[in-house]
Amino acid sequence: MRRWNGWGDEATTYHLPESAGDFLESKVGKGPSISDVTFERAVVAVPPARLTPFTRLSLDPADRLYHARGQSLPDWVALRHGRIDAYPDGVAYPTSDEDVRDLFAYAKRSSTRLIPFGGGTSVVGHINPRPIDSPTLTVDLSLLRRLIEFDETSHLATFEAGVCGPDLERQLNERGYTLGHFPQSWELSTLGGWIATRSSGQQSYHYGRIEDLFAGGHTETPVGPIDLPPLPASAAGPDLRHLLLGSEGRYGVITRATVRVQRMPEDEDFHAVFFHDWASGANAVREMAQNGLPVSMLRLSNALETEVTLALSGKDQLVGLADRGLRLFKYDEDRALLIFGVTGDKALTHFAQHEATTIARKHGGFAVGTTIGHLWRKSRFLSPYLRNTLWEQGYALDTVETALPWSKIESTALAIQTSIRDALQSFDERVLVFAHLSHDYADGASIYTTYLWRRSPDPDQTLAQWHAMKDIASRVIIAAGGTISHQHGVGLDHRPYLEAEKGTIGLQMIEAVRNQLDPDRILNPGKLIE
Ligand SMILES: Cc1cc2nc3c(=O)[nH]c(=O)nc-3n(C[C@H](O)[C@H](O)[C@H](O)COP(=O)(O)OP(=O)(O)OC[C@H]3O[C@@H](n4cnc5c(N)ncnc54)[C@H](O)[C@@H]3O)c2cc1C
Repeated sequence: MRRWNGWGDEATTYHLPESAGDFLESKVGKGPSISDVTFERAVVAVPPARLTPFTRLSLDPADRLYHARGQSLPDWVALRHGRIDAYPDGVAYPTSDEDVRDLFAYAKRSSTRLIPFGGGTSVVGHINPRPIDSPTLTVDLSLLRRLIEFDETSHLATFEAGVCGPDLERQLNERGYTLGHFPQSWELSTLGGWIATRSSGQQSYHYGRIEDLFAGGHTETPVGPIDLPPLPASAAGPDLRHLLLGSEGRYGVITRATVRVQRMPEDEDFHAVFFHDWASGANAVREMAQNGLPVSMLRLSNALETEVTLALSGKDQLVGLADRGLRLFKYDEDRALLIFGVTGDKALTHFAQHEATTIARKHGGFAVGTTIGHLWRKSRFLSPYLRNTLWEQGYALDTVETALPWSKIESTALAIQTSIRDALQSFDERVLVFAHLSHDYADGASIYTTYLWRRSPDPDQTLAQWHAMKDIASRVIIAAGGTISHQHGVGLDHRPYLEAEKGTIGLQMIEAVRNQLDPDRILNPGKLIE
């Protein structure tokens, strides 16, 4: 059963070792004990629906509660404190294109707004109804999850767009193939959601981002369907796939997508390297990316993230032993951890590992084998569950991410962290803020910054603290010329910063397409653009 007010399945818990709790307390103070609103009370608070019954439409209050919020920090505050300001009036479960067309007709007749909903894993407010006058209907695509066509000759697979990560991979793996798209939210997020938010998987360095994988598909818009055939390449004018990528439910409902798949790799492994400091690690990673090294992942943590990763692992003995060993070779407090992946046939993975290690050594790297990499692989989809545990122990956690050219990486990463620290200091609180380079390219990288601090018993105070940190970090990113999002999208939370990136004419272009495809403004109000 899925958690209604946190991450993932209720049966799964990430246990925080006692030593990790002590570590956090020493860094930011003891988390207060704050009780959550119960599910029963939250359901009772759902107001009556403003919709009349319709085919495959649920008006059940529990269903409406489950679809009211996503996974952003304001979402968690709203859910845990029982302060949800708007609910969908109903949840529709289409099973065909015709159902989606019927929903558009219904929405037009009854002035209802429609919110396409994949896995609801958005961390920026993409799927939240807003307290507006019109009734709102969430369009949950989870019943559209079949593999429709598998073109093995062309390595193309066509899925219904509501398929979630594990279901999609299972159907491909049974045939000996993989999409290789593994965002950390893979367990619950969907193909349609990945496309609509321009998602990036942990191994996108090897498999490509979703825009590389999305070859074409079928989208229902309020003015009619759009069919994009899968083409290996085309010079026939602007590429319309790029209008759907990042469209955040504003242009239509993607019902089917054809994706480029690969044979399952013969071999895969994850290796760890320590550097004396983050700057030398970043130089090594840049050289690897610019040399086009065939690795599948390059994830470089800064010193504090390295410390936190080791402290939260709960492997105190192993960590203590490693610490003493590393210090002997002068890998001290500033040390930075790189985890790199190798994926492919054995000859390629051996080559990639050898080359990556050689470049790492040139920059002072110390390769420590695969133990840390295996721990990372084992917990790659479990680590989001840590947020539940931390929250329950009185800690809030959020992330901010961007991408910039290499020449700006180090200064911007530092400026983001400093701005977050300063913002929370004005509340007389301490924050643990750390970062890693999560995706690397020849011309730049994405900086993924995590910040963790004590929740306040007053939800408004937690929100004010979050807003102060998020806002200043976003302004630092914009001032540095970075993107407001490398992978999470815009939604509600990043919308104020979008014009600085796209420009006024750019925003007008995005809006003009919306006016063309959705003249009655049925779809996902307020997301991406006002
Ligand atoms: C713990 C955690 C880890 C995460 N890790 C990553 C990561 O590694 N990489 C990454 O890129 N993101 C990550 N995310 C963010 C999130 O998972 C992605 O944005 C994901 O792509 C959203 O997919 P979804 O199916 O849940 O979409 P939803 O959250 O349901 O919707 C997101 C947006 O897409 C629209 N949409 C969804 N389906 C369709 C459709 N079929 N047609 C039209 N519009 C549609 C919605 O209207 C909405 O605007 C993470 C989130 C969490 C909570």
